[in-house]
Amino acid sequence: MMDPIWLLLLLPLAGFSGWVAAQRGRLHRRNASGPKAISDSYVRSINFLANDQHDEALDVLAKALEDYDESLEIQLALGTLFRRRGEIEKATQIHQGLISRPGISSEQKSQVLFELANDYFKAGLLDRAENLLLELGASESFREASLRLLVQIYESEREWERVIAAAGHLDKLTTEVWAPRIAQYQCELAERALNAGDYSAAKDRTTSALNLNRNCARAIILRGRLEALSGRHRQAVTTWTRLCDDHPEMLNEVARLVQTSAESVGKSGLYVDFLLRALESSSDERLQLLLVDFLAQEGRNAEAEAHLESWVEEHGSLSGLNRLLEIRVDSGSRSDSSSDYELMRKVSGKLLADRSGYECRFCGFQGKSMHWQCPGCRHWDTTAPRLATIKLS
Ligand SMILES: [Zn+2]
Repeated sequence: MMDPIWLLLLLPLAGFSGWVAAQRGRLHRRNASGPKAISDSYVRSINFLANDQHDEALDVLAKALEDYDESLEIQLALGTLFRRRGEIEKATQIHQGLISRPGISSEQKSQVLFELANDYFKAGLLDRAENLLLELGASESFREASLRLLVQIYESEREWERVIAAAGHLDKLTTEVWAPRIAQYQCELAERALNAGDYSAAKDRTTSALNLNRNCARAIILRGRLEALSGRHRQAVTTWTRLCDDHPEMLNEVARLVQTSAESVGKSGLYVDFLLRALESSSDERLQLLLVDFLAQEGRNAEAEAHLESWVEEHGSLSGLNRLLEIRVDSGSRSDSSSDYELMRKVSGKLLADRSGYECRFCGFQGKSMHWQCPGCRHWDTTAPRLATIKLS
């Protein structure tokens, strides 16, 4: 597919070629020889394009356009093309040249400034880009585009207060719903405050996040952590249990926190209740294994084994099978089949080795740790633990 920008660039050159052809035609008529067609540059660019040699085509075009075409649209398109190819310096040069052009309207100047801001952003000169965009905010037609780029800039600078302000403007300006994303920014600030030991600020931020998105998993987890930190462990467990409703995939993330809180108040029953409730809404096999681990730890081996057996039979879980075999080998009741168990355990253990981790449901990015903003596609709140159970009917 040809980039539509090429059409825009080739158009005036075609016109120019027509003019050249006409001039030549006049000459040729005078010289009484056959008509010669279009300009060399035009033919050469078309040839390069036809052969998918876009870089070469652009070089020829750029030269021709610099020499012959002064129109603003063409120069802007040329600048964009240079930027897209990573030739930021050339793009910047073109745009800077246009600003000082005499007779440029204020609307046109805004457009050039916006392009220049994009050049700076691409070159990593974030401060310069930011200054231009703030200046542009006054121009009605570039307000939304400027704010969108500002959000990107502030996100990469982790300037969360500023992102919140810009995103808030966009929320009012566009039909897009920004609240869940702003909730993520509030969570960033809550975590920052939490790490700095400012629990009261962390609490305020978490409340703001939940006001923006009452189902924000990250804010629910944070609220529970803050409650646990202030010694309200039962309340913390209740808060984390809320994840059962809309975020069963996140339950395993808080299981250890629940266990710690339950132990802090000397009520291991709180932990078991949480796991049983969690397993009603989630098929996450790691929660099953936590329950089995807990039962085994309490010396309730028979119970653990029976629970595992029925679960493995029902779901065909490899992790469950692996754990079951482990328990049987460890339990000392070595029968003739114990060596078979050992082997099966090894095999299933191997198969399991590379199945854990996290995945972005938007772009498929996979990682070993949880990212609230996907490093692959920069989307917020799209990453979740990878789950793998099959139901055998
Ligand atoms: Zn992604």
